[in-house]
Amino acid sequence: MNPAAGTYRKHNSFIDIRQSDPHRSAVMLRLQAFRDRLPTLAFSPYQVEIMTQACRDLLQPSPVPAASELAPPLQLHANTLEEISRLSDRDLPRYLFYRYRYEIFPQIYRLDDFPPCLQVEPTSICNYRCVFCYQTDATFSHPQQGHMGMMSLDLFRQVIDQAAGNCEALTLASRGEPLLHPEIELMLAYTADKFLALKLNTNASLLDERKAHAILQAGVNTVVFSVDAAAEPLYSQLRVHGKLERVVANIRQFQEIRTRHYPESTTITRVSGVKFQADQDLDTMEDFWADWVDQVAFVSYNPWENTYQQPVNQVTTPCSDLWRRMFVWFDGTVNPCDVDYKSTLRLGKAGGDLPQGNPSMNRLSQLWTGEDYQRLRTAHLSHQRQVAAPCNRCSVV
Ligand code: SF4
Repeated sequence: MNPAAGTYRKHNSFIDIRQSDPHRSAVMLRLQAFRDRLPTLAFSPYQVEIMTQACRDLLQPSPVPAASELAPPLQLHANTLEEISRLSDRDLPRYLFYRYRYEIFPQIYRLDDFPPCLQVEPTSICNYRCVFCYQTDATFSHPQQGHMGMMSLDLFRQVIDQAAGNCEALTLASRGEPLLHPEIELMLAYTADKFLALKLNTNASLLDERKAHAILQAGVNTVVFSVDAAAEPLYSQLRVHGKLERVVANIRQFQEIRTRHYPESTTITRVSGVKFQADQDLDTMEDFWADWVDQVAFVSYNPWENTYQQPVNQVTTPCSDLWRRMFVWFDGTVNPCDVDYKSTLRLGKAGGDLPQGNPSMNRLSQLWTGEDYQRLRTAHLSHQRQVAAPCNRCSVV
């Protein structure tokens, strides 16, 4: 499964991630103890199958999967290690069950009843115009185009109620800046204790004291500060409308609040940048940010800013995101990805009446396994992704 050159491998989008202590030996001991106890624990056969395979992969890593194995092995990446090290033993089984399906199912195109990860945008509006972002496309971000708005608290609660208990990874953010939402603190409070991989992506420009407390009280597992530079003018050239000085002050304040008021917090903080041009350097980023966050990373650039103007390409490898994530926009529109930021591929609405089908499944589950999504997956699996727009112009695999 080697995608052709010129593709964006979503599974490996981190270029590098730096953190201080990976806790590897302690995590391995806990995994061994869990594996030994697993036969005595009350899980369904399906859960046992997944957890057993996850333990086998993590405890006996082999860089090259045996030819007889259908699935690549689950690997203990730096961020996975850090996440496990902050989990209680009670939550470890849930985490392994989620993580295997999040990482491996998209690589083997295996489907479950619910997406391994759900991304929910409190708002599609952003106060920045980053050079690599679809917010620079005025046909999207101009208010008169109809793509801008804020999610109602009622719809947010409906979406969270459907996701809770069905998936562990919930990301608050997609096309807009979540901290712009006037009710973000209530939204955060509503998600508390419902997910093991609750993530918030923010540019940190609006991260004041109240919001810092709301994030930490909600037990957000990972806060990603989207920052691509350690100095001006590079920062504001990339993060247009942003000011590094303000962002630095806000992130430092967040760290001080975490240390002073939440010493038991398990929240991971990460400064994560898009590697867009040659003069961005991770060593410099690490030197500058390491005292204030737990992790510093770069992810690969993908031309998010103009998906629909990209040339039609010859990529035939299926897009793994179709088995990994589903997105809910501010107005309830459900979409397979945010590369398609103008919702050409929309699947339906997250709220309202249930579509026809199995009444025991909730609406998000029905859309995830429904005909429209299956038709798109089938096109990708039969190497016909060119029949769908904008998949025909997208290089994500
Ligand atoms: S546009 Fe198509 S190929 Fe690209 S990320 Fe979205 S679903 Fe995948």
